[in-house]
Amino acid sequence: TKYVYAFSEGSRDMADLLGGKGAGLAEMTRLGLPVPPGFTVTTEACKVYLATGEEPDELGVEVARALADLERAMGRSLGAPEDPLLVSVRSGARFSMPGMMETILDIGLNDDSVTGLAKASGQERFAWDSYRRLVQMFGRTVMGVDGDLFEQAISDHMAQRHVATDHELDTTELVKLTDDFKAIIREATGEEFPQDPADQLARAIRAVFDSWNGERAHVYRRREHIPEDLGTAVNIQAMVFGNLGGDSGTGVAFTRDPATGESGVYGDYLPDAQGEDVVSGVRDALPLTELEHLDPRAYAALGGHLRTLENHYRDLCDVEFTVERGKLWILQTRVGKRTAEAAFRIAHDLGEEGTISADEALMRVDGAELTRLMFPRFDTAGAAEPIAHGVPASPGAAVGVAVFDSAEAVRRAAAGERTVLVRRETTPDDLPGMIAAEAVLTSRGGKTSHAAVVARGMGKVCVCGAESLAVDPAAHRFTAPDGTVVTEGDTLSVDGTAGTVHLGELPLTASDVGRALQSGTSTGALTDAVLGALRHADSLRRLEVRANADTPEDAARARALGAQGIGLCRTEHMFLGERRALVEAMILADDDTAREQALAALLPLQREDFTGILEAMDGLPVTIRLLDPPLHEFLPDRTELALRIAAAEDPDPRDRALLKAVERMDEQNPMLGLRGVRLGLAVPGLTAMQVRAVAEAVTARLRAGGDPRAEIMIPLVGTVEELRLARTEVERVLAEVAEETGTPFDCPIGTMIELPRAALTADRIAEAADFFSFGTNDLTQTTWGLSRDDAEASFFPLYLDQGVFEVSPFETIDQDGVGRLVEIAAAAGRAANPDLETGVCGEHGGDPASIHFFHRVGLDYVSCSPFRIPAARLEAGRAAL
Ligand code: ADP
Ligand code: MG
Ligand code: MG
Repeated sequence: TKYVYAFSEGSRDMADLLGGKGAGLAEMTRLGLPVPPGFTVTTEACKVYLATGEEPDELGVEVARALADLERAMGRSLGAPEDPLLVSVRSGARFSMPGMMETILDIGLNDDSVTGLAKASGQERFAWDSYRRLVQMFGRTVMGVDGDLFEQAISDHMAQRHVATDHELDTTELVKLTDDFKAIIREATGEEFPQDPADQLARAIRAVFDSWNGERAHVYRRREHIPEDLGTAVNIQAMVFGNLGGDSGTGVAFTRDPATGESGVYGDYLPDAQGEDVVSGVRDALPLTELEHLDPRAYAALGGHLRTLENHYRDLCDVEFTVERGKLWILQTRVGKRTAEAAFRIAHDLGEEGTISADEALMRVDGAELTRLMFPRFDTAGAAEPIAHGVPASPGAAVGVAVFDSAEAVRRAAAGERTVLVRRETTPDDLPGMIAAEAVLTSRGGKTSHAAVVARGMGKVCVCGAESLAVDPAAHRFTAPDGTVVTEGDTLSVDGTAGTVHLGELPLTASDVGRALQSGTSTGALTDAVLGALRHADSLRRLEVRANADTPEDAARARALGAQGIGLCRTEHMFLGERRALVEAMILADDDTAREQALAALLPLQREDFTGILEAMDGLPVTIRLLDPPLHEFLPDRTELALRIAAAEDPDPRDRALLKAVERMDEQNPMLGLRGVRLGLAVPGLTAMQVRAVAEAVTARLRAGGDPRAEIMIPLVGTVEELRLARTEVERVLAEVAEETGTPFDCPIGTMIELPRAALTADRIAEAADFFSFGTNDLTQTTWGLSRDDAEASFFPLYLDQGVFEVSPFETIDQDGVGRLVEIAAAAGRAANPDLETGVCGEHGGDPASIHFFHRVGLDYVSCSPFRIPAARLEAGRAAL
């Protein structure tokens, strides 16, 4: 195996092997962009190292050979005493993990070469600034010394010289600082800072390998579902210097605005700076447009390269660049992360410009992003002024209590509390807190700061660079310019779209996208893009999208959002509220007459419910599920009732009767008890009442000139015998009502498939069913033999942590197990009954990954909650591509 590739040997297609950064450097080299030369150690080498604890044997030789080539090309030798070549050693995995792993700059400097560098560059201060950076970075990342020790030493020197930034330390001071750094290393490790450049290089490469297993890298991968075994590549690249004075600098640029998607070059620039000074926000960067004044030629060159890259990748690209004495170098590119808003706008614009096809544009957005855009916004009408303004770095509206460190955010989130993580700036160590918090607020850094980049990647609300805030993390508080002091636990409303922070909790209102989806009319560039993507998805998709809705209002909302019917109308909510008394009477009835009376009282109420829903969904199918949950759910809590009786002087005899009934109906495992079809078969008159209510509602709608399309669905069937019995009863009542009214109508009768036995005997069941609706929530519970409510609260976090599953099977369908049953049952059902309709009505019906699966196994529709319908339409369209 070849473990080392020169940049000129690689290409964008080799990202698995070279990592994203290495592939990007190689591709830019091929395109002729000004990339400092270098080479990449492959992820394969990293994998060997991670598996065995040793670099592969050939690696040393290959690195030495590639280094010799690099030295020849540059005409300089690594760490040579005269005019030394310096290199950076940069991590770069397959998937971008911003700031999660290590990069070490200025490798090759030592006590001798620092003088050589000073001479060659004519800048002594620069040489020593670079050397102290190397000792610091190397000490921290390679030798494991606590980074705070170095920061403290810098602070001490600044205090001694009475200066506010390290920028103002002169050469003499930097020489002393470097000495102090070396002493810190010596003290902490008992070892000297290594002077041999080759040794520095080898150890830096190993440290980058090791950083794959760093804690924050693990946390990030888990969160982003990045596999644990990919390993990282390592890029060794000739250094260029942005810290050579005013005609040098370093920056980050985007081909379009990654927050809004607006076209036009966008970014940050920091003169006279090296490396990560921009991203870390230690100094405030200038907007990129300033570079146009500082150095018009470099700016023009950058603009040209950005265009080249965007045309080449046909997508938003971001680059990291450095200007060394007026000469522009590009150090990194990738297809840039973006907000949901930017994703839709960029895809739409690139489509309109003809850069990509409509199909490609659709593939560039997804349902999760669309859902995010539908989240409500703050309603600021009548609200007090914001206490702070910052950079709107990642959009959305979030409310939470202020916390000032990552651990507190994690602690409070575990207790179910919503938090806003407030920091001066974030570092990769804040990652767990950023994941736990609803929003991130910082007082430093721009749209390309760590906080902004990471929050955007996670879809978290973020306002950064709110410079007017005086954040005091040690005291757990910040002070706003108007004097407001916010301490830990105070509630904040953070608006990542406007870049504002309000004290207290602001009310919410529908977002522009939410409104446009409801009304079907666009109000701007973003809603144009969203509606356009949905139109295209609708034209492609084969899956229909229905709604889970139990009220006329929900049905109407769902229809406005594009629902093509109701896939699941639960009838149990119709048994709640003031109707509870009637339900109690039905359950308590000790003879047929009493029961019939109670049912007769429920009948008109159910009929009205159904009439309203059928009206809202006129002309579209409405699948009504007969009562599913165990009856005791409609009775009072057993303990409460017992206490009430015990406390009363003269207990209500009704209460005593109720308690008896509750005790009689108590079940160890209600989920596996008297529910679903079993209930309909066991409680006389219940099915008849519900079916009659449906039939009378249909008749009423027909008489009113409507087009009602009711379907009756029988839940929790395990064997065709159950379905046959239930179906006979349903058909009997339908015929009875038709006879009475003289208006016969067609009403498909189907069943839910939510027990493994039903799935496995689907061929038999299909003989008695007009449709199957996969109840994947219960099917997941019964297939795995676990109860969702219990499991999610107890061992799921552990399972997710240990990688038993990457995502909860209740969130995304478990294709190998539950999905297999769906596949078997759908195929067997259709074989036995070619007219059989198939759909899904569990939570999975609105989950993007699951929708792609349901498309593949050939179901007819998915059904989900109204809010998720647009995303489901989008994903069903993408699945068809
Ligand atoms: P990350 O993956 O965290 O962005 P990078 O490997 O990109 O880390 O390094 C961070 C920064 O270090 C870069 O943005 C760049 O400014 C600087 N850097 C890396 N390599 C070089 C180099 N060869 N010359 C100059 N600066 C470099
Ligand atoms: Mg980088
Ligand atoms: Mg169910």
